[in-house]
Amino acid sequence: MEELIQKAKEILSRARGITVLTGAGISAESGIPTFRGEDGLWKKYNPEDIDTADGFRRNPKYVWEWYYGLRELISKKEPNPGHYALVMLEKIKPYFTLITQNIDDLHRTAGNANIIELHGNIWWMRCMDCSYIEENREVPLAEIPPTCKNCSGLLRPVVVWFRDNIPLSTIDACLLSIEDSDVMLIVGTSGIVEPAASMGLIAKHVGKTVIEINLEESINSPKYDLVLLGKTGDILPKIIPINK
Ligand code: NAD
Ligand code: ZN
Repeated sequence: MEELIQKAKEILSRARGITVLTGAGISAESGIPTFRGEDGLWKKYNPEDIDTADGFRRNPKYVWEWYYGLRELISKKEPNPGHYALVMLEKIKPYFTLITQNIDDLHRTAGNANIIELHGNIWWMRCMDCSYIEENREVPLAEIPPTCKNCSGLLRPVVVWFRDNIPLSTIDACLLSIEDSDVMLIVGTSGIVEPAASMGLIAKHVGKTVIEINLEESINSPKYDLVLLGKTGDILPKIIPINK
């Protein structure tokens, strides 16, 4: 393992441009459960009810109560050493992009700036009927379900649900950052949810070096250059070089 860590550190220290993709695993050590694991947030709920626009239309109050619980949980959590290591990496590299599937905003709280939120952000709400959108950090929420100040329509969380489309401009920005990078780091993500799951493979396809960090091997691990098994909070601080 020590050898792999040294190798990853060398690769990162030589790289000018780095794209990082993070998933729920990096926030697990801050105390935010992943969705699929043993204590996963979806264990007790049916994702069709809480994470689809149809489920939301059927029962907005039920969905908002679930999201209210998640907002309350996240509001008490703080970034961990894995998040802070990525802030250091952004400081020392000329080109750095952080693509995250997380909706918890902890990368921004830690201090990263160039972030692409592939699946949205739990602290934003938008109207189902008009273009109204707002940042809303209320815990507890003043009304459940919250309504639009513009047209009284229903507000939904700005998170990507099953069968929602991710804007093409967002995907484009991810691909451009991969193109501009020498190295891609894939951190704490299961590699099941598309389009994130394919991004490491695309990076490989266009000749980039891909390093993965996860508790266990993912479905795409055999295709990557280096796979470091362990906790993101332990490994990331060890592989981030302190020189430019
Ligand atoms: P996932 O739950 O499918 O997978 C999490 C991955 O992290 C797993 O591969 C697991 O082995 C790994 N992992 C867990 N703890 C780890 C640790 N301490 N160190 C290293 N790796 C660890 O999560 P996903 O791939 O991100 O996809 C799930 C979807 O759910 C995402 O789209 C995301 O939007 C959403 N989600 C977000 C949050 C959040 O914002 N914090 C939390 C749960 C789910
Ligand atoms: Zn509206």
